[in-house]
Amino acid sequence: MVENGGLIEKTVLLNKNNEAILVCDKCGMFHKIDESLYRLGDMKRILIECQKCQRRYSVLVNLRRHYRKGISLQGTYNIVEKAGGIGIAGGMARITIQDMSKSGLGFKTNGPARLMVGDVLKLNFRLDNAKRSSVEKNAIVRRVFNDIVGVEFTKHIDERDPDLAFYMS
Ligand SMILES: [Zn+2]
Repeated sequence: MVENGGLIEKTVLLNKNNEAILVCDKCGMFHKIDESLYRLGDMKRILIECQKCQRRYSVLVNLRRHYRKGISLQGTYNIVEKAGGIGIAGGMARITIQDMSKSGLGFKTNGPARLMVGDVLKLNFRLDNAKRSSVEKNAIVRRVFNDIVGVEFTKHIDERDPDLAFYMS
């Protein structure tokens, strides 16, 4: 996230429904970006103002990314740091990872997710590859809807995570 003359620069990836959703960092409001704004022409920035809090964003929609959907990986998370320091870190919960990209993943919790946008998590899970590789990644909660949570990795998947990078290739 980069501040640039009052505009927050963000890159948005498509979700599994091929939608570009901007989630406001300040208030958590969802904005579905009109497809006509990014489908035509080359990568260009789109100006979006949050309808709730009026924060302004300069958004780049990245159509070119690898995405795995329909996966089902068992894992856990621990809360490393609560958003805004409110509440207590710790506590382990079981999750099922349902989709993953190089920048993050989506999971389902058992019961309603007691998580907030901005919480920092440590995720542990196993891949369903031949080695059943064990993975540990830190991630920030970007969206929460009932028991469905979307997180962004603090370090996106690259060659430093060989098993994950191969899994996503
Ligand atoms: Zn907002």
